[in-house]
Formats: sequence, structure tokens, C-alpha cells
Amino acid sequence: MENSNAELLAELHEKLKKCKKCSELVTNRTQVVPGDGNPHADIMFVGEAPGRDEDIQGIPFVGAAGQLLNQLMEKSGISRESVFIGNVLKCRPPDNRDPQDNEIANCREYLHAQITLIQPKLICTLGNPSLKTLIDKSLTIGRVHGTVLTKKGLNFFPIYHPAASLHNPSLKASLVEDFEKLKAHLREM
Ligand code: URA
Repeated sequence: MENSNAELLAELHEKLKKCKKCSELVTNRTQVVPGDGNPHADIMFVGEAPGRDEDIQGIPFVGAAGQLLNQLMEKSGISRESVFIGNVLKCRPPDNRDPQDNEIANCREYLHAQITLIQPKLICTLGNPSLKTLIDKSLTIGRVHGTVLTKKGLNFFPIYHPAASLHNPSLKASLVEDFEKLKAHLREM
């Protein structure tokens, strides 16, 4: 019998845990953070890269930004168990520096494989790196957040990164508003 998508996703994550493509990330990481959640999720959230807490626990969005994401999802009636949460990079960049282009290029195949296996109905990109990696380099989150975009048969809903609103509280209102829009969109879906 053929392997199910859930089994193939688990296999992909085992392969990912041994990835050695980016030497600086391999040297500095505690562990790879492949992604977490429902292998049959209708909604997939894609952040930037693991931070300190994620690197320690091996699970995405478990630090301060993750707690805010959990609150926003809960308020929108989205349970964490129902979604899949991942990142553009699966390893923490040293001192949380921005992902480099070559690292994004190295990790891209894993993110695309996750999307192919999960087949989400909607992908919520969190912040600019995820938006630019998955949809188009020329887009910026300030311009397109809170709108549904379609590319190659996939539906995207770009949202500000929760961490951005922790550093810049004026973005919190936009984030809350976008989750309200997301909730309305999910009802229509
Ligand atoms: N920020 C991200 O982009 N991803 C995480 O997993 C945690 C914080």
C-alpha cells in the first residue's frame, strides 16, 4: 500500500532533522524545527524562522510571538491542533538575524514539499520573508496584508508577523483586524 500524506510528511521531517545544507545554521542550532500540526490542515501558517525558544523546544511559535499567535487564533475560533504551523527556515539563524537568500533557497524545497503534502486551502504568510518567499519578492506586507492572493492554484492570506507587533505596538490593531477578516473569510470558504 502507498504511504499516506501524513506518513510522507513525517518522513520529510525526519529527513529535515538531518539537513546540513547551511553550515552556519547547522553549527549554531540546537535542533531543526520542521513544523508542527495537523498533516491534513485546511490552514497553514508560515513564519520566518525559529527563535530561541523554538530552537530549544523543536516546535515553532512557542515563544512570545507564538503566545500572541495562539491568542489571535483562539479569538478567531481557530484551534492550534487544527492548523499546521511552519517557517521559511527550519533552523534558527544566530542571534535571530534575518534569513539569508542562500538559506531561503536551500530550505525552499522543504516548505514546498510540506505544502504539497498538506494541501492547505489557505496559507497565512506571517511577515515579509514568508510573503516574499511564497508569493512574490516585489510584494510588501504593509501593502497586501489582510487580502486573499492566489498563485499557482494556492490561496494566500498575508498577515503581519506577530513579533512585529510586539516590537511595534501600533501594528497590533492591524493584526487583530486581519484575524477578524481571516475569520470572515473562513466562514465563506
Ligand atoms: N518567529 C517565527 O517566525 N517563527 C517561529 O517559529 C517563532 C518566531
